[in-house]
Amino acid sequence: MNDDLGFDPENPLRRLLARVVAETRETGGTTGCPALSERVLEAMAAVPRHRFVPAAQRDWAYADMPLPIGRGQTISQPFIVALMTELLELEPDAVVLEIGTGSGYQTAVLARLARWVYSVERIPELAETAADRLRELGYGNVTIRAADGGQGWEEHAPFDAVIVTAAAADIPPALVRHLKPGGRLVVPVGPAGHTQDLRLLRKDAQGMVHGRSVLPVVFVPLVRDGE
Ligand code: SAH
Repeated sequence: MNDDLGFDPENPLRRLLARVVAETRETGGTTGCPALSERVLEAMAAVPRHRFVPAAQRDWAYADMPLPIGRGQTISQPFIVALMTELLELEPDAVVLEIGTGSGYQTAVLARLARWVYSVERIPELAETAADRLRELGYGNVTIRAADGGQGWEEHAPFDAVIVTAAAADIPPALVRHLKPGGRLVVPVGPAGHTQDLRLLRKDAQGMVHGRSVLPVVFVPLVRDGE
């Protein structure tokens, strides 16, 4: 474990990061990702999660659990946010597409690591709140739009990385199409209301797609237009 992030009962953020580091290590045999990079840890340490949760949930903002954010949606568990971010292997010049902005918490973590984050949220109120919040916090490299993210975002494609933070019954083909050769896509795949399979896909230099299972996870469903 990184000593700088050791257990400190006085500091809820440090305690949370120590928990995330421990959980990453404990699940490493399954996920193939036993440790987080310094860059991802620094990004996790720099995002004030309490600013992304409703006032009624503030006491739990630094607990390693998902929390309700209204409209039946949730802010993701910090360990899962860290893991999914790590799997994207973002370089500082990366351009990322995120589907499921929700609170904007994962968006903020991505924005600290990439050049630009395009994020799509189908519930307009959530998209607006997240955009306001990210602007207030000084994130100037994020563009959010209210739409069905299953269509991808043609105008800004192709992306170095695509992250989906809602469970898809099937991987929307547009998201694979909008990935650069060498790009990575992280997406929970499976039925709503059950455990899903977090999957990591890579598009190789020839455009062939290779995928693997990472971890069982539970996400709210990706709702497609017309459903
Ligand atoms: N990363 C978010 C998690 C939000 S939960 C956070 O940490 O706060 C998943 C979000 O996906 C919800 O806000 C939900 O409204 C959104 N969503 C569901 N289906 C979608 C779709 N087809 N396109 C875009 N967003 C969608």
